[in-house]
Amino acid sequence: MTIIQEDIARAGVVGAGGAGFPTHVKLSGKADTVVLNAAECEPLLHKDKELIRNDANKIVEGLARAVALVGAKEAVIGIKEKYKDVVDAMQRALPGYMRVAPLPDVYPSGDEFILVYLTLGRVIAPGAIPLSVGAVVMNVETAFNVANVGETPVVDKFVSIAGAVANPSTVRVPLGTTLAEALQLAGGATIPNPAYVVGGAMMGRLVDDLAMPITKTTGGLIVLPSDHFIVQRKSWDWNKTMRVGRAACDQCSRCTELCPRYMLGHPIEPHRAMRSLGFNSSREADVAGTQFCSECNLCSYCSCPEGLDPRGVNHQNKARILAEKKRWTNPPFHPERADLLLAFRKTPTKRLMQRIGLDSFVNKGPLLTKSYQPKKVVLPLRQHIGAPCAPIVQKGDSVGRGQPIAIRPVADGKPALGADLHASIDGVVEEVAPDAITIVAR
Ligand code: SF4
Ligand code: SF4
Repeated sequence: MTIIQEDIARAGVVGAGGAGFPTHVKLSGKADTVVLNAAECEPLLHKDKELIRNDANKIVEGLARAVALVGAKEAVIGIKEKYKDVVDAMQRALPGYMRVAPLPDVYPSGDEFILVYLTLGRVIAPGAIPLSVGAVVMNVETAFNVANVGETPVVDKFVSIAGAVANPSTVRVPLGTTLAEALQLAGGATIPNPAYVVGGAMMGRLVDDLAMPITKTTGGLIVLPSDHFIVQRKSWDWNKTMRVGRAACDQCSRCTELCPRYMLGHPIEPHRAMRSLGFNSSREADVAGTQFCSECNLCSYCSCPEGLDPRGVNHQNKARILAEKKRWTNPPFHPERADLLLAFRKTPTKRLMQRIGLDSFVNKGPLLTKSYQPKKVVLPLRQHIGAPCAPIVQKGDSVGRGQPIAIRPVADGKPALGADLHASIDGVVEEVAPDAITIVAR
């Protein structure tokens, strides 16, 4: 079946591996190559590999649709070479115009900028997107969802449940299922006073409310002891970042030397951003360059020998740049650095996991195939970048799984940026709140 971009929007497909950028918009450009991001470089997360192990043909089907929509000549699949069974499963399913590009086991190989360099040898300029070098990057679960367009809209989510849990695994649950329910599917926490990270250990955030619903962008739930390094570091507030950084940064520049974006030739130099703690600095190389930080946290959790938080300083400076409207246009760009530096200074995942205290946890997450039926789901109207969806159901309406319940609002005669939302279970609408729709199972 041939599909068009509007079919993808109506099926509710957004980037499942990041901020939820609507996939139909991403697939509206023209590119010569589609890159499948199967790097899954966040420690302990395994859902993408499990999807490939479970149904590589489906992923290839979604990828083929993306290739057709952007008019590409080929598709390249970036998978870590060490997962030989996943590489083999993918290779068996590939047509001639697709190939696997084996990746080294390094962090952050799943950063789109790094992935495009590792798979295609192309360097994206600071502030640009992969399309600027002829590439579109797509996450594994997004490809799975694109393959389902025409049959099933996005109603389920795959989530890695990892860390201090009885049965580390990948679960498939209806959207709107709570984090607490997903955790129970993996046997629950095995430690007293657990702390929870949603997303990855490196880039995710701490949450204390497990009643939160799983959305189209929830990738993982990691359970850790409350005194764990990652939990402690994610608990730092700006005062601590500033106070410790101001007192202890010796300007050794190791954070910059190992920064993946700096090594791609971008004007981000975290050691210079640290100087802004001591001075009201606004010089471009010191502060404006922070707008090109990916916030991968490599500098803060791994590179800095003093245990400081350059990523936090970058984050604060980015907010300041945004507020002062000081965006750096035409910044310097040294793409030759990629071949000179990045090729030789990658951070191995094994060393990273030792450094951040994750090497003692089970590093597997097999897919649990038993389907889960929650009694109730809460579906936020904004699960994507863009405008929140507008409800088209009312309290008391009977709905079926897969039925549209909220759609993109129309602005200036066309649908706003976003993707439609569907009931994830059969049931009755219990509430239509300004930010979410609640459905109770029949
Ligand atoms: S690595 Fe740490 S101590 Fe060295 S310059 Fe960067 S923030 Fe300062
Ligand atoms: S978080 Fe640190 S290492 Fe990562 S891109 Fe930003 S400055 Fe570079």
